Amino acid sequence: MHGPRAAPPSSTSAFPRNVVLLVGDGMGPSHFAAARLLRGDAFEAGRFPVTGLVATASASSRVTDSAAAASAMATGHKVNNKMLSVDAEGRPLPTLLELAEGQGRATGLVTTTFFGDATPAAFAVHTARREQVTGIVDQLLASQVDLIAGTGAELFGRDGLPELPAAASKQGWTLITEPAALASAPASKALAVFPSQKNDVDVPGARLPTLARWALERLAKDPDGFFLVVEHEGTDKASHENAADDLRASLRSFDETVGVVADFARQRGDTLVLVMGDHETGGLRVVAEGAGDVALEFGSTVHTGSLVPLFALGPGAERFVGLYENTEIHRKVRALLR
Ligand SMILES: [Zn+2]
Repeated sequence: MHGPRAAPPSSTSAFPRNVVLLVGDGMGPSHFAAARLLRGDAFEAGRFPVTGLVATASASSRVTDSAAAASAMATGHKVNNKMLSVDAEGRPLPTLLELAEGQGRATGLVTTTFFGDATPAAFAVHTARREQVTGIVDQLLASQVDLIAGTGAELFGRDGLPELPAAASKQGWTLITEPAALASAPASKALAVFPSQKNDVDVPGARLPTLARWALERLAKDPDGFFLVVEHEGTDKASHENAADDLRASLRSFDETVGVVADFARQRGDTLVLVMGDHETGGLRVVAEGAGDVALEFGSTVHTGSLVPLFALGPGAERFVGLYENTEIHRKVRALLR
């Protein structure tokens, strides 16, 4: 959190005070189609006024990984797969989160997977090697991010990673390891780390809609506004594993999370909300079913080069119509951050 600056924009401003980027990792067109069928009239992304389509190739491949995809959105530059917000020479590229931070905004990174995983990390970490977990954790703990929530509690205290309580307190973080402790967390330097879940489905007691609401309540206290990234990783992991039940659960959870953020944005009128996939995973198809749930088939266990849908709501949303490269996310949001 930072001190106040100029008068905040009015609710009718063309420029948002707050920006929330909701990433359904691995969600291509069929993932959103499945979410729509699963949620019916409750499908939240379908109520957004603006839609777009985003091309996702990285600098090194027609098929991106999550590191290069998130780096493109965060920095406006296509980078090689496995790289987090650095150029080909390894030099750091400034991210949207860092830009927002420099403007006095509060910031947050929330995910259902390891909090140092590629998508959240690309917004606050710079490294040519996404698999270098120790360095990524060091950078995140040393960062100015106000709120971080995710999993990976069991990774600490071995394989070169420090004991989490000591490492967190050394950098001034309040560490939360139980869902019940979320309510008493401060609005800045709060780090919530839960045990990893199979296929990165929601943490029991701390589902993604709950974590999103938790983050919004805290970040909204900053009069300068905030920049928040919320990711569901279960939509990607379950697609890699061709695990249809876990995918359906994650698609439902992600769309419920979209609803939490959209309700917040509609009440205030000063918050831009972007909902998108970072790439497609699993070559998903919605198929004619027998009885019961939405039937899904997979054509792959890896990422594909599909376009991904984008849904936009709030001040500046109209800029996100059309078909464009994922690097345009950075440019369009940057032009709106005043
Ligand atoms: Zn993946």
